[in-house]
Amino acid sequence: MIRLSGCVASLICVLSLAATGLVAAPASHRISVRVDPQTRLLEGRDTITFDSPRAATLVLSARFRVDTLVADGRRIRAPDKPSARLQRIVLPVARRIVVRWSGTLAALDPSLDHRGVLAYGEPASGTEGAYLPAGSGWYPMVDGSFERYDLALELPAGQRGLVPGRLVEEREAGERYIARFEFREPSEGIALMAGPYRIEERRLRTAAGSSVRLRTYFHPEIAELARGYLDSIAGYLDLYERWIGAYPFSEFSVVSSPTPTGFGLPTLTYLGIDVLRLPFIRATSLGHEVLHNWWGNGVYPDYARGNWAEGLTTFMADFAYRERESAEAASAMRLAWLRDYAAMPTGDDAPLVHFTARTHGASQVVGYHKAAMVFFMLRDAIGAAAFDRGVRDFWRAHRFRVASWDDLRDTFERASDKRLAAFFAQWLERPGAPEPRIADARAAPVSAGWRLEVTLAQGAPAYAISVPIAIRTSDGVITHRMELTRERETLTLDLPAEPFAVTLDPELRVFRRLVAGEAPPILREAMLAGSPTISVLSADAAVQAAARKLAAKLFEGPRADRGGSPVLLVIGLHADIDDWLASRGTTPRPAMLAAARGTAQVWTVRAGDSRTNVLVSVRDAPSLAALAGPLPHYGGQSYVVFDGARVIERGAWPYQPQVWELRPAAAAR
Ligand SMILES: [Zn+2]
Repeated sequence: MIRLSGCVASLICVLSLAATGLVAAPASHRISVRVDPQTRLLEGRDTITFDSPRAATLVLSARFRVDTLVADGRRIRAPDKPSARLQRIVLPVARRIVVRWSGTLAALDPSLDHRGVLAYGEPASGTEGAYLPAGSGWYPMVDGSFERYDLALELPAGQRGLVPGRLVEEREAGERYIARFEFREPSEGIALMAGPYRIEERRLRTAAGSSVRLRTYFHPEIAELARGYLDSIAGYLDLYERWIGAYPFSEFSVVSSPTPTGFGLPTLTYLGIDVLRLPFIRATSLGHEVLHNWWGNGVYPDYARGNWAEGLTTFMADFAYRERESAEAASAMRLAWLRDYAAMPTGDDAPLVHFTARTHGASQVVGYHKAAMVFFMLRDAIGAAAFDRGVRDFWRAHRFRVASWDDLRDTFERASDKRLAAFFAQWLERPGAPEPRIADARAAPVSAGWRLEVTLAQGAPAYAISVPIAIRTSDGVITHRMELTRERETLTLDLPAEPFAVTLDPELRVFRRLVAGEAPPILREAMLAGSPTISVLSADAAVQAAARKLAAKLFEGPRADRGGSPVLLVIGLHADIDDWLASRGTTPRPAMLAAARGTAQVWTVRAGDSRTNVLVSVRDAPSLAALAGPLPHYGGQSYVVFDGARVIERGAWPYQPQVWELRPAAAAR
């Protein structure tokens, strides 16, 4: 079975191919393939060998013809079970198979967006390049087996290309470019990329003493970005070698793609030209993709039992970079995760252990962000030294093997000498999240100072959570951790100074469902809503048409069965929106938006317990039409102001932590 796995940001993904139940020894391929991206012709020859004779099934795209097929020296005509896209060729028991195949690649469609590229999965080429995904059947894959390979790629002059692995040889021969690669570790499939690339190369001697060939394969229009990318890769390899262990491969390349996509594969990452131009990619997504060479492409998740690799990568890359920036930046990232979780319809929630790959926004919330929070809480529970010891032990024990959440738990138990079964069970196997709240707090003077009693409560069945509380006193803020294991628990503290207020988890260190007032409403709530109601306050045909188009872009796919929180999307001209707000007697347009210029203003309002209104206020129909492209990218915001399609103002309404104000000292006495 073929599956795709994950993404970090909405833009960037790790595309890996894994078969479940991988028990057989890896098959070895020796492939020669000639690709002409322009004419889209592909011709290949593959010699497949097994350690011992076995029956196998080859999977090849239906767009190719098998020219010859030889099993253990005998030419055969294997039964072919055709399907829509892939042909399955059932082989007799044999040890050595030779296949020659040829055909025409699909035409590369540069207008495909990221989701389209993931879903399309066809081997394709054009003048801007070729991308032959691992699962597309561009070569005869051995079904259900890891694969080792040796691959010689031949391209027309002017084109360069690669597959994951070690570059063994590279030369120009007349009108041809020839490069040979080998991949000795068990691989989950071969992806091939080619294009009119300029190659920049640097040799790096790593912290662990190995030599790594760093390369960029960039289209000419972004060739000047190469040096910056090479610098960044070197920095990430150094960071992770010191943190985890030696980089397991001999190369790392950044390869540009004509489509706006992003995948991580062993030894390389494939990123859209426009993605590579974004200034923040080097600082975030690139490091995430480099780290996948350890988690995901170095240790393989046991997909049938849950994909831990995205969570650990998000924690040790995206989150770690924020943490290095500042404690505030790290806590802002946790707030964004918890806010997204609070905005997700409960019908979309699932136990973390069920997460195998990213399919839509909701699985990112659990599979990436909740998982990253689990590692964050684990580090809080066992300490950074034991956590880092666990990370190194895990790498040493499971390098190039399949590992599960159970293996992670085992490793961290040994590294910390703590029992973690209950911790992992509640975070992996239960859907949902705890919802701790301050149920009571009271203070009284005692002989040596003040006595504070704080009662926390949560729903049933109770989670075992360690909840930080911050106590504001006449002598500064004191922070404590409360171990909450039951539905209700009281902590008594003797304090040297008078306490004024108690705040629950002000730094957001616990994965929990934010209560209504805590979570600022964001646009994503509308985008993930089960059944949004849309109200257009204008009869003008152009406004109506633009409103329908915007709504279609905001609500991805059918949502009716998911039971999200009710959302009302109100679209209208500025004056109509103001009238609507006035007629409802609700909060008027926020002053900061009223003051902002721009052609369109979009903002969220919490209306009642769990109801969210999204207001879209525009100058005219063209201003509304301009929002359909950009607005869906601002799901994390509470308000966005546009000038045409350009964002001039945006932000999230502030986090309002749960605070219990204690009675004034006089009244307490
Ligand atoms: Zn990832």
